[in-house]
Amino acid sequence: MERHTGAIVQQSLEALLGNSTFLPHLQGQRREQAFQSLTAILSTPNKVHKAFLRIPLDSGNVVRIPAFRIQHNDALGPYKGGIRFHETVNEDEVTNLAALMTLKNALHEVPFGGGKGGVAITPRDFSERELYLICKKYVQYFSDVLGPDKDIPAPDMGTGDREMDWMMAEFKSIHPGQPYLGSFTGKSLISGGSLGRREATGKGVYFTLRYLLHDFLKEHSGWLSASSSPFAQTALALGDKPLTIAVQGFGNVGSIAALEAYKCSMLRNKIVAVSDRNVTLYNEEGLDIPSLLAYASGNSGDLPSNEEQLAESGIKAELKDRSAVLLLNVDVLVLAALEGQIHDSNVDDVKASIIVEGANAPITGNADEKLAAKGTIVIPDILANAGGVIVSYFEWLQGRETQFYSEEQIFKLLYDKMQHTMKGILPAYFGESQTLRQNCYIHAVMKLSSVLFRQGKLY
Ligand code: GLU
Repeated sequence: MERHTGAIVQQSLEALLGNSTFLPHLQGQRREQAFQSLTAILSTPNKVHKAFLRIPLDSGNVVRIPAFRIQHNDALGPYKGGIRFHETVNEDEVTNLAALMTLKNALHEVPFGGGKGGVAITPRDFSERELYLICKKYVQYFSDVLGPDKDIPAPDMGTGDREMDWMMAEFKSIHPGQPYLGSFTGKSLISGGSLGRREATGKGVYFTLRYLLHDFLKEHSGWLSASSSPFAQTALALGDKPLTIAVQGFGNVGSIAALEAYKCSMLRNKIVAVSDRNVTLYNEEGLDIPSLLAYASGNSGDLPSNEEQLAESGIKAELKDRSAVLLLNVDVLVLAALEGQIHDSNVDDVKASIIVEGANAPITGNADEKLAAKGTIVIPDILANAGGVIVSYFEWLQGRETQFYSEEQIFKLLYDKMQHTMKGILPAYFGESQTLRQNCYIHAVMKLSSVLFRQGKLY
């Protein structure tokens, strides 16, 4: 992952030091000392757990697979964050993602700390039985450090409710008699999961865009027109026109965000492009997203990627290279695939006025600065894709109460929480020239610093 959270934490902290609301009662040397302690705490994880999972394959061969659980910070509550199954997983990447979880939870006032797990595999290359063994082994190796009040994993890239069910079951058999429903979130409904958890990230991603361009603009257009912020001008220019949208990634996040955009009547949306690991599909009149979802669900999640499949699907679209989605002439680009997708060599050709980060860290640090200089609004990962962890929190609560909420209640709670966060951040963002990401980081770090100070951790 090229965007180093350590560096970002550092930048947010520097902005904080010059900010009179940062620990205002501390002066001079004591303030500097508190600042240094905070830097040390946030730029390093509390604990790093690693293992090589020993897995007997169906072929009879045995492999040893690198696996991680990184616990970044627990000042606000038990560690919380997904487990990723992907070939690029390594300690550095998981550590950065764990730090992002600390910031994400602090930003949205979810009472959890930040953690992340990873297993370095390409899930497609393993049979169902082998994946089951990997999940079981993961829990066996890390069972001492996991638990409903210690560290609560959830799905991430390459994992879903099936893996969470397997893992929870293993946790339950290792710790008999202990509460187990809250040990993993993102479980299937039948295993004690929550309604709405699967759709939560994608719905939340679209909600951030809708809130910004509809509710917020409507309420604040007066002073926004007078603001000298380049981002205010970008937003105002989009406020009244039908939006063209491109979505990179058609997995759990991208497909649901695309469907939300397709169904939304408040903004006049046209989803002109979606992409996956094979292809970009483009139609300037707008794509039929429900039909694409139906096609993908019958084809292992893949979009039609050649003329024959396209004809068979009945979907009207033009086939383009899978990376074409990034450079289209659209108003909004939703990044819901991998990290590091917009970087030094393609950022100058990105034409979207708003980019929404459905994935974690899809834009590198340098590219992010260049986008800000162009006046592009970037709704950052910790703001946009927090729907998953927010509903994970509701799932964890339901597990404790052994009482379950309706889908309507879940989405109301989710949107209320995201709206509360956005209300607290957007006025400052549009009132000055800092990016939305910097505003989110400052907000999150401010919250963490107050808690750490109260708990005597800033000596
Ligand atoms: N993996 C998701 C994320 O990156 C969800 C984490 C969770 O629910 O704990 O936010």
